Amino acid sequence: MKLDKSMPLNSFIKRLSTPNLSWNSASLISQLEIMHVPLNVHLKRFQRADSANCPACGARNKTVEHFLLVCPSYARERWKLRSEASKLSKNMCIKTLLGDPDLTLPLANFIDATHRFKPIAKPDVPRRSMP
Ligand SMILES: [Zn+2]
Repeated sequence: MKLDKSMPLNSFIKRLSTPNLSWNSASLISQLEIMHVPLNVHLKRFQRADSANCPACGARNKTVEHFLLVCPSYARERWKLRSEASKLSKNMCIKTLLGDPDLTLPLANFIDATHRFKPIAKPDVPRRSMP
C-alpha cells in the first residue's frame, strides 16, 4: 500500500510533536479530519452512521463543519477559537482548522471546552424512598 503524504495518519503523527498537545487531543483532531475527508467506502459507511442529529442543538446532518463552525451550542467556546485564529491571521475554515499546525492547540482547547467528546456523566438515579 502506498501512503499518501496527505493521509490523516501522517498529520496525526505530525500533531503529536506539537508541544503541550495530549495524545487524546491529537487523536480527536485526527478523527475529525478523517470524518471530514471521505477516504473509502468504510468511512462513508461510518459517516452515514454518524449523520444523526446534532446532540447539542438538534440540527440535522451533523457534520464536522457543524461542530466546528456552525453549532450554536458551542458559540461561546468558538468565540475563543475565533479570536485565537484572528490573532494569528488565520481563516476560520475547516481546511485551516484541521490542517494548520498553528491552530492545532487552539482547536484542541476548543474541543476540550465543548466537552463534546467526554464521556457523558450518568444522571443521578433518584433513590427509592423506603416505606
Ligand atoms: Zn449543533
